[in-house]
Amino acid sequence: MKYNFDPMYIIDCFKEIVNVPSPVGYYVQMNPVIEKIAARFGYTVTYDNKSTPYITIEGEDNSKTVEIACHLDTIGMMVKRIDANGMIRVRNTGGVNWQSLEGETVTVYTRDGREYTGLMACQSHSVHVFDDARTLARDENTMMIILDEDIKCEADVRALGIRHGDMVAADPRCTFTKNGYLKSRFIDDKAAVACAFTLLKYLTENNLKPKYKTLLAFPYSEEIGTGGTYVPSEVSEYVAIDIGLIGPDYDGNEHCVTICCKDNTGPYDYELTSRLVNTAEKIGTNYVTDIFYRYGTDASAALKGGNNIKAAAFGMPVYCSHGVERTHIDSLINTAELMIAYALGE
Ligand SMILES: [Zn+2]
Repeated sequence: MKYNFDPMYIIDCFKEIVNVPSPVGYYVQMNPVIEKIAARFGYTVTYDNKSTPYITIEGEDNSKTVEIACHLDTIGMMVKRIDANGMIRVRNTGGVNWQSLEGETVTVYTRDGREYTGLMACQSHSVHVFDDARTLARDENTMMIILDEDIKCEADVRALGIRHGDMVAADPRCTFTKNGYLKSRFIDDKAAVACAFTLLKYLTENNLKPKYKTLLAFPYSEEIGTGGTYVPSEVSEYVAIDIGLIGPDYDGNEHCVTICCKDNTGPYDYELTSRLVNTAEKIGTNYVTDIFYRYGTDASAALKGGNNIKAAAFGMPVYCSHGVERTHIDSLINTAELMIAYALGE
């Protein structure tokens, strides 16, 4: 490691935020936690009108402002219907993989602050009962929530205060193994948020300033493609930290950081991406470059939003994206190292 920081802080911080629900657009529980963590390093949090938290770090040179964005939203759901028998039907917010959700504990959040857990199941939920229990396609129309309450009918559900439009989140299912593997539904992108706090901690403890004024931003709608569409006007450079992919087309693996040269939107800024490659090379980080297909980041959203910025993206490769994801602490260390080096202008 080029920079001396405690790798376990990344995991501890991840555990602290991953268990706070934040399905797309649901910031009410998460933002106070972000404020609490920022305060430990002496920072206050500011917000835009979308409730995106920002931490502003003064630079050596404040004539230029860069933004590092790590999205806090996770793929989620909203209640769309309550069946006559009390089963709850949902619509996804973001690219839900329904197969992966079968058998998962989910929580419904009512607008008056009540929370109810339930089991995400297929309507043909039992091999002993339904001929098509194994074969029925798992999708929005066949999946349902069986509440962990005594429910016989729709009125029983409504009596709990549950209504259409209530937020639903899946259990984060977080485990960290003795040999360094991290598993969770929401490595995307809360592991990047943990890396951002690792950067903040490193700068604070070592009394360092980033090269330029740096905004750490945590948008809440990356999973539906609008997270980065608003960028404060002073920002000229925008780097999204988001998952890397693993598969036949990719060099990425669970031990490296992947610099994304192109995603579904198009190529990222040539100079900035090349600068990140050179920085990774210079500090000896284990990195690869890849191009992604069914994939976007807040940086590509920022470009689509018409912002006058240089954009780039990098992050930790995961297996099973949008399911129960897995990576290794090595990739988080390398991601945090590249973030520190970028911020310091190495
Ligand atoms: Zn993401």
